[in-house]
Amino acid sequence: MADFDFDLFVIGAGSGGVRAARTAAVTGARVAVAEDRYLGGTCVNVGCVPKKLYSYAAHFHEAFEDAGGFGWHLPEAPHFEWATLRDNKIGEIKRLNEIYAGLLDSAGVRLINGRAHVLDAHHVSVNDETLSAEKILVAVGGWPWVPDFPGNEHVVDSNRIFDLERFPERFLVLGGGYIAVEFASIFNGLGSETHLVYRRELFLRGFDQQVREFARDEMAKKGLQLHFEANIVSIEKVEGGLRVSLTNGEQLEVDTVLAATGRRPNLAGLGLDRLDIALTDTGHLRVNERFETSVPSILALGDVTGGPELTPVALAEAMQLVKHHFEKTQPAPLDYRHIPTAVFCHPNIASVGLSEEQARVACGEIRVYATDFRPMKHTLSGSRERCLMKLVVDDASDVVVGAHMVGEEAGELIQGIAVAVRAGLTKADFDATVGIHPTSAEEFVTLRTPTRR
Ligand code: NDP
Repeated sequence: MADFDFDLFVIGAGSGGVRAARTAAVTGARVAVAEDRYLGGTCVNVGCVPKKLYSYAAHFHEAFEDAGGFGWHLPEAPHFEWATLRDNKIGEIKRLNEIYAGLLDSAGVRLINGRAHVLDAHHVSVNDETLSAEKILVAVGGWPWVPDFPGNEHVVDSNRIFDLERFPERFLVLGGGYIAVEFASIFNGLGSETHLVYRRELFLRGFDQQVREFARDEMAKKGLQLHFEANIVSIEKVEGGLRVSLTNGEQLEVDTVLAATGRRPNLAGLGLDRLDIALTDTGHLRVNERFETSVPSILALGDVTGGPELTPVALAEAMQLVKHHFEKTQPAPLDYRHIPTAVFCHPNIASVGLSEEQARVACGEIRVYATDFRPMKHTLSGSRERCLMKLVVDDASDVVVGAHMVGEEAGELIQGIAVAVRAGLTKADFDATVGIHPTSAEEFVTLRTPTRR
């Protein structure tokens, strides 16, 4: 071990890389991290954090409207100022970047500002310096991918959308995944005329069908213009904006087009091709349970490995990796089955466990308990927003195998329910739990009659 400059050399200071570096350093390992962009990776800089801040901003639109029914009247119609939101966001991200630098520093990790290249199984070069490490961790994440079509140079990707110079009065997003529905809701809420264009019949493929349909209806109610079974043929720059031609013959004129069409592993120029490292069919790094690639001294985790592209997954993988390689323990494999997730579209979606469709295949006989109601707040606000809550139960064992919600703060609520689902609790356990009144959440423990089997 002593022959190497470092015990662990991490490439990429995103959520997973930083967590692995810090946790390994705590065990006494000598650790370095190389990063050529920003500390905190996608999540902190161009993902979860700024997205949530913008989502908060977008919610105010409705909050102002809702307030009237409760007796609050604003002296004048509120107006939105993009530059204030964007620049306050920039300030907050800078603060977080500094916190990340401080965390690495206080853990004794050497931070190197530069893009590292892997030379062989134990060597990297960065800023013309060659360094050796017993283990190299590739935690470089993903990068937005934009499809090829005439005029695609006019689109922005999810890295650039946060810092637009001017607020788009007319906004179009291409895609039907997390980023597409979240940004459609954000710009719709901030006041843009908003279009979402998605190539299949319904967005959020893989989510529970009832959840997808409910979200579609709620988003349409808020004025979002949904164009399903359509794709972009071309984009042309015209006087005052962009003309977007769709496969269904429609032409839309907008100010900004966001391509939210997925992300690819950010491996370009890293030098791994020299080592002939095994990739998956999707071009991600193939790893085993110990996060070793086909070259065992080169480890990888997070988005670059093709698992669920979620910060908490990368964090869990980082801690697991350190247990394997630095604490030398044999932890139980990570449980990827019960990963809760939220989509911060408006209203929010959150899910844990199986969708109704997946449960029918996995369990055979199931019971579905679903309720769709107008939240108490909206009795006075006048809002037409509704809330969906749903439990999917394996009929034979009575175990709750899935929980889903579309409604305000769905992520906050499903996080708690996820503990119960992961623990394998039964519907009888849910029934025996006393509700908190008056909340929307109490519906999850008062659903008595199956909606369908
Ligand atoms: P996703 O993979 O979730 O969605 C990509 C979308 O683009 C899909 O709807 C896909 O369609 C569509 N698409 C792909 N190729 C084309 C094409 N050639 N033409 C038209 N449409 C196309 O990626 P995102 O970019 O939305 O997000 C990346 C990942 O980041 C997510 O998967 C998620 O894991 C993570 N993320 C998580 C968030 C959260 O936790 N709240 C928020 C944002 C991102 P199809 O369905 O047909 O494949």
